[in-house]
Amino acid sequence: MLVNKIGRACGRPEIPVEVIAMAVDPVCKMEVDPETAPAKTVYKGQTYYFCAPGCKVAFEKDPEKYLREAEKAEGHQAHRAH
Ligand SMILES: [Zn+2]
Repeated sequence: MLVNKIGRACGRPEIPVEVIAMAVDPVCKMEVDPETAPAKTVYKGQTYYFCAPGCKVAFEKDPEKYLREAEKAEGHQAHRAH
């Protein structure tokens, strides 16, 4: 009983979240796991990941618009609090 409680209290996976490099969906700013992203696209040699195919469609309609917005937000994302 005591052994099972360690690290399993809330039924979360044992892998610390911070170890996984998360990509940010440039359309809705959601964090997306590159391993399981439902949609991705390559634009100007850079791979972008999306939380849903709909976000990819929106990005491909006007990639420059979303990339400009992503650049602005980057400074804040860098020191995201836990
Ligand atoms: Zn999205």
